[in-house]
Amino acid sequence: MVIRYELIKEDKHTGARAGLLHTPHGTFKTPMFMPVGTQATVKTLTPNELYEMGAQIVLSNTYHLFLRPGTDLIRDAGELHRFMRWDKGILTDSGGFQVFSLGAMRKITEEGVYFRSFLDGSKQFLSPEVSIHAQENLGSDIAMAFDECIPYPADYEYAKHSTERTSRWAERCINAHTRTDRGMFGIVQGGMYKDLRKQSALDISSLPFDGLAIGGLSVGEPHDLMYDILEYTTEWLPQDKARYLMGVGTPDCLVEGVARGVDMFDCVFPTRVARNGMAMVHSGRMNMKNKKYERDFAPLEEGCGCYTCQTFTRAYIRHLYKSEELLAFRLVTIHNLYFLLQFMRDMREAILSDSFSDFRENFMAGYVK
Ligand SMILES: [Zn+2]
Repeated sequence: MVIRYELIKEDKHTGARAGLLHTPHGTFKTPMFMPVGTQATVKTLTPNELYEMGAQIVLSNTYHLFLRPGTDLIRDAGELHRFMRWDKGILTDSGGFQVFSLGAMRKITEEGVYFRSFLDGSKQFLSPEVSIHAQENLGSDIAMAFDECIPYPADYEYAKHSTERTSRWAERCINAHTRTDRGMFGIVQGGMYKDLRKQSALDISSLPFDGLAIGGLSVGEPHDLMYDILEYTTEWLPQDKARYLMGVGTPDCLVEGVARGVDMFDCVFPTRVARNGMAMVHSGRMNMKNKKYERDFAPLEEGCGCYTCQTFTRAYIRHLYKSEELLAFRLVTIHNLYFLLQFMRDMREAILSDSFSDFRENFMAGYVK
């Protein structure tokens, strides 16, 4: 198999696990966080800056690249790795999440989804076959199966119908997959219904995917419900494949996800909030536009090894935000991503040294949501 998960150590007290993910562009340590590069760029950062902070895999969005500049163009440019000059891992989503979020702007059929481009209003179509073909054009190490993300709340009949279709679409994705040098993950759905989650986990696990993602969580449900469904779902997933919880990226959810056996996460959260002036720290979040930082000459977080904290003060960063200087976005993006990547490394170390439960307890005790 072109993508292979190697389990290194399981925590004795929780579901947490440390492992290695072997891909065509390197072997990466799990649990991991994947920065999101929606438009073939992690906003405001260069690949070198991402290498320096220890990023391993970045995520790119098929929906956006499909509409602009087009996946044929990227294939002709030498595929996504060469186009964006990123030599490590790339995972692409299927575009499903974005087209299903369009509401009245899209029509779902068994064949696929018809929708209007947000760029020019043109009629577009995505299906399992179209999505996999687009992702093979991009040449991502890991393509994602085309699924339907069930909104929250959803009634049982809708969730059942949708989950069954996601299973049928998963088979079509497997059949559409032609590149033996690239891998693909399946996606478990089922909404907030345990019997549907179990059926979906069994259906998707029975297909020859290289890893399994848990979709349809972190879609507006309370955290306790998300953790409950997640814990239940991972019980039905095989031990020998990577597990990826989609769209989750706040530190509290990362710890709780790792504790339930998740290996991979992605989220726009750290980069998006950076552009709003929010710095992520162990105690929670800091609004860097706040007046209390006006004469604060400490780094964003004491002890942080990122370039921003090694170099600049809170007062300077606040000044940049107040002056609407672009450097503010870059500096806080660098810090937020470094913070999360280091946080994942710390969790991995804790699992390897049999201290994950202490790590989790200490972190949650000091963290304000
Ligand atoms: Zn920092």
